[in-house]
Amino acid sequence: MPVEQNLNIVPFVSVENMMDIVLATGTETFLQELAAYVEEDFRRWELFDKVARIASHSRDGVIELMPASDGRLYAFKYVNGHPKNTRNGRQTVTAFGVLSDVDSGYPLLLSEMTILTALRTAATSAVAARYLAPKGAKTMALIGNGAQSEFQALAFKALLGIENLRLYDIDPSATARCRSNLSHLGLNIIGCRSAEEAVEGAQIITTATADKRNATILTDNMIGPGVHINAVGGDSPGKTELHRDILLRSSIFVEYPPQTRIEGEIQQLPGDSPITEFWKVVTGQATGRQDERQITLFDSVGFATEDFSALRYVYDKLRNGNGFERLDLVADPDEPRDLFGMLLRRKALTAHLNS
Ligand code: NAD
Repeated sequence: MPVEQNLNIVPFVSVENMMDIVLATGTETFLQELAAYVEEDFRRWELFDKVARIASHSRDGVIELMPASDGRLYAFKYVNGHPKNTRNGRQTVTAFGVLSDVDSGYPLLLSEMTILTALRTAATSAVAARYLAPKGAKTMALIGNGAQSEFQALAFKALLGIENLRLYDIDPSATARCRSNLSHLGLNIIGCRSAEEAVEGAQIITTATADKRNATILTDNMIGPGVHINAVGGDSPGKTELHRDILLRSSIFVEYPPQTRIEGEIQQLPGDSPITEFWKVVTGQATGRQDERQITLFDSVGFATEDFSALRYVYDKLRNGNGFERLDLVADPDEPRDLFGMLLRRKALTAHLNS
């Protein structure tokens, strides 16, 4: 067991802890290490107990629970998606999650997952692109320059060797911030005035916009042969980014079809339209990119195994006992069945201390 612990005291990785872990590791190294966990779990895909996430939709957003288990460990993430939030100084996506020991059912870790989700989404995108993007791609267009954007940029730099980044956002201040945050991190960055301009000369196109509607960030005429599209922002019913015609020309790769059929870009297609499950590409049961003119599309919605991988990775990193706090989360009566007695003893102790 990586973390030496009293099972009743649960390690808690706060936002501050997470930032310290990421910075101590180095963001790009963190993304590379995390990507290895994500890829390993795609390879172990058939072992997992999987289910489409449980989504509670409301007028302006969604709250989701995302569970997965490999039979030894169990994880779930609580995550929201509220595109209107940024107008009130809040984030579109926030999250936290739990990793548990299947054998006892006891939680092993409680962690912030807002930062971790951005990292795992970027790591997953880059793992997919390693199998699907044209070899030697050096230029990526990044459309939607919000919270996820810098993580996406760094993952593609660290895992694929992307050197040139072409940014576009309907809000120029988002592009300016993204550009400034990434300056001095070894990327040539060009700010663009339109999505059309951003995709010029790009071998990889990442879309990470947030709008609760069927948007058309990319139209068919913008997509030349051989391009890889990493579509991150369309991840809810009625929330897509690509024109349907692009889907009809693309080889489409997905995480978990029962979830992606409802939430991904392919919600625009009939339920039996051809798709390839990405894990089959990782295990060699299906082919990724076959020729240089093929348009590949990773229709990313974010799946629970990726959060499982992220929590598993962070848990392994806590081996040295640093980087977390301890939470009194699990009741621990002296005699396991005497839960009420524990309450009585607490009452007696409080009365004694107050007397
Ligand atoms: P964010 O709100 O921080 O940023 C979104 C950006 O998109 C904003 O800067 C906004 O101005 C821009 N935008 C909106 N409409 C646009 C348009 N038409 N053209 C260009 N830019 C536009 O959101 P975020 O946290 O960066 O997340 C981005 C998207 O990714 C969200 O839709 C979110 O739900 C999704 N997401 C997906 C996954 C996944 O695993 N697939 C994981 C996390 C987030």
